[in-house]
Amino acid sequence: MTADVLQFLCRSDNFGLLLHDGASGATAAIDVPDAAPYLAALKQRGWTLTDILITHRHGDHIDGVPELRAQFPQAKLHIPAAEAERIEAVTGKAHAHLRDGDGVHVGTLMGSVIETPGHTLGHIAYHFAKEHLLFAGDTLFSLGCGRVFEGTMEQMWDSLCKLAALPPETRLWCGHEYTQANGRFALSADPDNADLQARMKDVDALRLQGAFTLPVTLKQELATNPFLRAGNVATFADLRERKNKA
Ligand SMILES: [Zn+2]
Repeated sequence: MTADVLQFLCRSDNFGLLLHDGASGATAAIDVPDAAPYLAALKQRGWTLTDILITHRHGDHIDGVPELRAQFPQAKLHIPAAEAERIEAVTGKAHAHLRDGDGVHVGTLMGSVIETPGHTLGHIAYHFAKEHLLFAGDTLFSLGCGRVFEGTMEQMWDSLCKLAALPPETRLWCGHEYTQANGRFALSADPDNADLQARMKDVDALRLQGAFTLPVTLKQELATNPFLRAGNVATFADLRERKNKA
């Protein structure tokens, strides 16, 4: 496998993510909460930024783009078509406006766009099928999912179902380190789930060491994430509302 993913913290609980293609040397940033940690990571690895892939328009995913582009003016910016105007107001003009099914090249790596409305109406995820990588932004978290700010519960449920249908060996990378708090709610919703209990033991140990809880396979999420396991939109909506109040 030539794909390498580097994960680091931005702001307080946002993930910074760099996807590097060893074959071509291309490197993509997946969302840019803050430019400084990206610049430090690129410098440390000796990588040159060639692409920026944005999942949605929230400030904690795009605010670092202008500074990163100033340092790497040749990097191509890829953004969701449905949020293009609002994102470009912050980032400047993009190279590509992406819709469901569109392809995105990072060197020799080939990603495809999955529209996942719900958290925001234009939210997209990036799936690199050959490498079994999924960059889900704020749609799917480990043991949780994003808040439904703009779409309907039906839209968010459909979006989660699309991601859940990807191959189980797919590794999930997402926008925030929220797993431990999500897991406490998950245990309250599904207390007898042995897989979930085991995952939370691992999560607590990782956090104690200051380590990240991502990536995780979709197989593991399907066994432990109550939002993916809801089974229907009514149960999902009920869970999401209870989590909002938790
Ligand atoms: Zn967001």
